[in-house]
Amino acid sequence: MDRIIKGIMRYRRLHRDGMVKQFENVRDHPEPKAVFFTCMDSRMIPTRFTETNVGDMFVVRNAGNIIPHPQHFVDELTMCEPAALELGCVVNDIRHIIVCGHSDCKAMNLLYALRDEEFASKVNRRISPLRAWLCAHASSSLAKFQQLEITGFDQPILFQAETPLRKFVAYIDPENKFAIEDKLSQVNTLQQLQNIASYGFLKKRLERHNLHIHALWFDIYTGDIYYFSRANKRFVEINESTETHLLTEVRKYYS
Ligand SMILES: [Zn+2]
Repeated sequence: MDRIIKGIMRYRRLHRDGMVKQFENVRDHPEPKAVFFTCMDSRMIPTRFTETNVGDMFVVRNAGNIIPHPQHFVDELTMCEPAALELGCVVNDIRHIIVCGHSDCKAMNLLYALRDEEFASKVNRRISPLRAWLCAHASSSLAKFQQLEITGFDQPILFQAETPLRKFVAYIDPENKFAIEDKLSQVNTLQQLQNIASYGFLKKRLERHNLHIHALWFDIYTGDIYYFSRANKRFVEINESTETHLLTEVRKYYS
């Protein structure tokens, strides 16, 4: 807490006045651009690595950047993530949703361990809210990952996108650059696009192409950030040589 109080004092001295001006500007001209789902991991600072500012994004964070599938609820309005989707995309009319996963994700490392039935037993789930969360809401990611383990990572997997007719194909780490848990993290990130698209209250916007869903993936040991390119069917590193190509893709499909 000592560190936090000193940080707040520094903010008062250096940044408060500038931020109050930005708050006023946002109040008069609100133009949020994206609802950004990412992991709660302390190494993920999305506003810093996207260089976004006051008023730009609604950020939702949890363990493992998971958006529960609506099938898990009798009433889909009883959890944080769907409420955040409604606040962002319906109340504030935001047209882009971004899900951002990352490497060495502790939640994904645990999900990988949950392949072991003993480890994922009901008893263990009862004493661990984190295991219960992952077993309930990330089992679909694990199932897709296990399908890949059987067919081999040179084979593609299929995800449903904005509508049942708009599916996309993904190759997961075809160059075999990442650890096995990181491959699971990439599958999990893409699985969330499918979960988001399953919410009934977003259906019309998705069908009319008024709402778009994207995936990013952050490699925290190199600082590289990847965009899932549907044209390339894989996560493509965003860098000087891919920038033009990726901008063309997003402007063509999502403007
Ligand atoms: Zn994480």
